[in-house]
Amino acid sequence: MTIVRLQRLCLFYLILAVLWVVLGELLVRWLSDNHTPVSLLPFSKGLLFVTFSTLLMYVLGRRHIDQVARQQQAQTVSQTRLRQAEAVFDCTQEGVLISDAQQRILHVNPAFSRITGYSLEEVLGQTPKLFASGKHDAEFYGQMWRDLQAKGRWSGEIWNRRKSGEVYSQLQNLRSISDENGQVTHYVAVFSDLSALKRSREELDYLAHYDHLVGLPNRLLFSERAKLDLERARTDKRSGALLLIDLDHFKDINESLGHSYGDSLLIAVSKRLGAFQNNGMTVARLGGDEFALLCESLNAGQAAALALRLLDSLAQPFQLGANELFITASIGIVLYPDDIEDVEQLMRNADSALFKAKGSGRSTYAFYTQELTSMAQQRVELSSALRQALEQNQLELHYQSIHDLSDERIVGFEALVRWRHPEQGLVSPARFIPIAEENGLISAIDLWVLARACRQMSSWVDSGLSLQFIAVNISSRLFSHGELDMLVSQILAESGLEPRYLELEVTESAVMQDPDAAMDQLARLRALGVRLAIDDFGTGHSSLLRLKRMNVHKLKIDQGFVRGLPGSREDAAITRSVIALAHNLDLRVVAEGIETPEQAEFLRDHGCDYGQGYGFARPQAPAKINWQATLNRAPQSNDA
Ligand code: C2E
Ligand code: MG
Ligand code: MG
Repeated sequence: MTIVRLQRLCLFYLILAVLWVVLGELLVRWLSDNHTPVSLLPFSKGLLFVTFSTLLMYVLGRRHIDQVARQQQAQTVSQTRLRQAEAVFDCTQEGVLISDAQQRILHVNPAFSRITGYSLEEVLGQTPKLFASGKHDAEFYGQMWRDLQAKGRWSGEIWNRRKSGEVYSQLQNLRSISDENGQVTHYVAVFSDLSALKRSREELDYLAHYDHLVGLPNRLLFSERAKLDLERARTDKRSGALLLIDLDHFKDINESLGHSYGDSLLIAVSKRLGAFQNNGMTVARLGGDEFALLCESLNAGQAAALALRLLDSLAQPFQLGANELFITASIGIVLYPDDIEDVEQLMRNADSALFKAKGSGRSTYAFYTQELTSMAQQRVELSSALRQALEQNQLELHYQSIHDLSDERIVGFEALVRWRHPEQGLVSPARFIPIAEENGLISAIDLWVLARACRQMSSWVDSGLSLQFIAVNISSRLFSHGELDMLVSQILAESGLEPRYLELEVTESAVMQDPDAAMDQLARLRALGVRLAIDDFGTGHSSLLRLKRMNVHKLKIDQGFVRGLPGSREDAAITRSVIALAHNLDLRVVAEGIETPEQAEFLRDHGCDYGQGYGFARPQAPAKINWQATLNRAPQSNDA
């Protein structure tokens, strides 16, 4: 009932009551005028009743109407709110998903469909597992549900999968909705797609850290990496090198041929430098025509060799359009971490080294210190001279006797290579073997030594000398050559030497580089009938199990342990242990570097089988070998 109707009803009652009273009054008066006695009471009572009930009705009706009006008003407000929420639900950029307490999807908004690719119909009744990316483990989801139950909400970054299969990142807010009894009735998830944000962050990051012209890391990224590696090199106790490269006379090219030509050249140079990039190396453009290489784990010799290769590569002509362009570059080299405080100092020193290189005629490299520059130059010169040494027969073999420690009898020899340099005289292998390992000549040298030593032993055996073996060193590079066994058997056949006379010395570190391949190789060599020895034992990290399986014949205790005998407790303990270990594995033991009778005595007393060292004889050319040499005699003066 509306208020108007009620008011009308009440008015009607009132008019009726007034009419009742007036008509009653008139009737009473008329009857009085006609002298008819009439009681007024029924009219007055009726009047009172009608008036009172009309008023009561009005008051009650009024209250009811107010209540209804309030309810109607509240309904209108909540309908308005619902319409507003619906508009937000439909228009928001965030995806919204509503599920029941069993996580069955009840409703999603248009943004949800836009982000995920799923329409409402496709997800109705499904659970959010449909979107799982597989990037999170069970613990992640477990924690999410625990939070949701405990706090009624969870928010965080989560990886989900779109209908297209693309995995993307969302920022998600989850809420549980409970009824008046605290029972969860619904879950609401509101999420935004972070992939665009991430992409733009990556783009910003790229712009900040990479050179936009050539696509190489820029100065900022290079400095960050240099700083990191400086710290790592300090911790790992290894050296690294920074090579700063500057194109010679680039300004002239820019000025004479134009900047776009200059840009094309910079791009081409970057590509060439990029070709040198490998693991542990960063190639960067620091600005203008300045490039830099950060090389983790590089020593002076390797850095100089790399600089030369870079200079060679840049010296090749550049084909730019119809033009062929020739350029040169200068390189400054700094080694770290020694004497380098921080990355600023590293860059400063590289600048001075570059300045030096430019000063010494360009198209060259220079180290930060003069000392390093000349050492590296010597190495480079030695490296190229070594190539000719093989061709020009400058290599020689010297032989150092190996003695039975029980009676000092010569039982065999170790072949040790020497280089008779036309200007520098006899060069020790300690100097040129590392260079040969770097420039790859080592395998050729080893094979030359092997052939020469086998021929020598063959002639000694033929002449009736009672020798048990000739030992030849095998570099790790030749050892890792898959066909070493075939090469050895070919050389043996050519020299006519029986395999049992040949002993191959392999270092512990060569075996440990690729232990499985090493086992196979050792097994094939053993099958040929040659002997095998582990050289410099104690300096590598052999596992005892592997040592047992290697099935070699001998261990050579490194001279570093023999040097301290018999005084040093540690050296004595190590030597004793190695001898005991070798004998337990049924191996013979040779001690290297025996210089004094005390060392020989200690080793003999502890059961060492063989000994070798200046105390018996130095390595000698075959013609100079003193076949009677024993430890009791004075060390030989004809030093190799
Ligand atoms: P290595 O195989 O351990 O050879 C033993 C080295 O110790 C030799 O040095 C030898 O002259 C030296 N030596 C021997 N007795 C004594 C001594 O009493 N005191 C001292 N201080 N030294 C002694 P060398 O000839 O300079 O050779 C050095 C290393 O060069 C060799 O160590 C070996 O690893 C390598 N090498 C030598 N010749 C060849 C070769 O033909 N091929 C390969 N791959 N490496 C070789
Ligand atoms: Mg050796
Ligand atoms: Mg050795």
